[in-house]
Amino acid sequence: MENVLQMVQSSAREQGLSPVRRIKLVVGELSMALPASLRLAFEVLAEHDMFQGMFQQAVLEIEEQALECQCDMCGHRFPGRDYRFVCPLCRADQVRIVTGRELYVDYYEGETIDDQSRPRTEGLGGQ
Ligand SMILES: [Zn+2]
Repeated sequence: MENVLQMVQSSAREQGLSPVRRIKLVVGELSMALPASLRLAFEVLAEHDMFQGMFQQAVLEIEEQALECQCDMCGHRFPGRDYRFVCPLCRADQVRIVTGRELYVDYYEGETIDDQSRPRTEGLGGQ
């Protein structure tokens, strides 16, 4: 999760977006990352000094990507239920994983720095 946020942070800096308001994460069933752990890590990291408050108000959205396999022999695509990698049509065991291993940021949203740093006019007291 830390490297994910570092990636978003550097991208947001390049784009001049801060703070970040929303992060959409796609997590594959086989990525070994549990959404609950990711959320917890996110909450802890968002408070960390290294991100300078950039994620303190951000919402983390997680989309879980189901495991899908494709048979190398007949091309049939099927959900990889119970982690049994055998083609239900032709019974071949030469099966590749099409989706389910990913862990990436689909998109994020932030505020443009320009909106916030618009020059403010402040009186200095006096006459
Ligand atoms: Zn097959």
